[in-house]
This record gives sequence, structure tokens and C-alpha cells, in this order.
Amino acid sequence: MRKFREKTLLVATHNAGKLEEISALLAPFGITCVGAKEKGLVEPEETENTFVGNARIKAHAAAKATGLPALADDSGIEVDCLGGAPGVYTADWAETPNGRDFAMAMEKTWVACEQANAPEPRTARFRSTLVLAWPDGRDEVFEGKVEGQLVWPMRGAQGHGYDPMFQPEGYDITFAEMDPAKKNEISHRADAFRKLVACFEA
Ligand code: IMP
Repeated sequence: MRKFREKTLLVATHNAGKLEEISALLAPFGITCVGAKEKGLVEPEETENTFVGNARIKAHAAAKATGLPALADDSGIEVDCLGGAPGVYTADWAETPNGRDFAMAMEKTWVACEQANAPEPRTARFRSTLVLAWPDGRDEVFEGKVEGQLVWPMRGAQGHGYDPMFQPEGYDITFAEMDPAKKNEISHRADAFRKLVACFEA
């Protein structure tokens, strides 16, 4: 695995929450993170049909534009009885003319399971893929996941996205009912980050 030896890492996201989460994680390694917005980068179109493909597009575009190593992530939920949908299109399922509506997207997902006549439990997983790209075109990929099942009606008010309908394996509460610190310990993103930090250790 190629080690990261620089002091500054460009995080290829326009999402302030993601930048904050990644900055906090990497601060103990003496690494300062800067966001894509700060660098005036435009978001490239995500034209691939895999998490790793889209994370690669974002990471390489940012590394090439700035000459800095860049980290990007792509994530979503896969439902087994829907053949892995919504998958890379998770955020797209929530799109409306007035912005993203995840309550609508979750209902659409549950209705699709009903229409498929799928038996319960309706197993699903969140996936998170991180790509660290260097300006010379090389990259490293780190993949994380958390297994669970969909529940209906949705429960809980914490978290974001599909959290209210996702119950992780071994728990009887959804991600939206869980203490955020606990979610951050067991989530798909935590899994991917645990693999990523091996790159930063001397
Ligand atoms: P992206 O990684 O920003 O492209 O996010 C993809 C979509 O996946 C998000 O808009 C959320 O709907 C969903 N998603 C990713 N991670 C989580 C999570 O931890 N909880 C709930 N939804 C998530």
C-alpha cells in the first residue's frame, strides 16, 4: 500500500459535514484537510455505475486540478430483494424538483419491496468507498460496509438519509434511533476509515 507522507490532504467534497468528519479523523496524524469548495473546484459528473468508479472520478479530478493528493468517498444502500438498488443511485432516488426528500425515497424503497413480494427480513447493507488519489494517477481504494435489514414504518429522528429505515445486524433499533457516537463506531464509513488510516501510519 502506498503511504501518504504529505501534510495537506484535499478532500474532494462540497459537503461541510463530511469535511469536518474527515478532518477530525486525520488531525491526530498531523494532516490538515482542505475542502474542494475552498479550492474553487467544480463537482465532476458521477457517470460510473459503481461506488468505486464514482469515488475515483471525484478523487482523480480533484488531484489533477490541484496537484495535491485527494480523498473522495461514495456511499449508498443496497437492498437484496431489489437486486442491490438503489445502490449508487441512493441519492438520486431522493431527488425532487425542490431538493432531496429522503422520507419519499424510503417509502419508494419499501413499496418496491412490497411489489417484489419479498419475504422479511428484507436484508440490506450500507456501503462506503473511499479513494485516495495522487496527482501522478495512482490511487488506493478502501471499502466499508454494514449489514442489516429494512424496517417499516421508519423509526427515529437522528442521523440522515436512509437511517430511519435501516436496522443494523445485532440491534433492534434503527441508525436513526441510535446514539450517533455508536453509529459512527459500527457504520460502513467507520469500517472504510479504519482501513484508510493504515495509509497514514508511519
Ligand atoms: P454520497 O456518498 O454523498 O453520494 O451519498 C449517497 C447517499 O447514500 C446519501 O445521500 C444517503 O442517502 C445515503 N447514505 C450514505 N451513507 C448513509 C448513512 O450513513 N445513513 C443514511 N444514508 C446514507
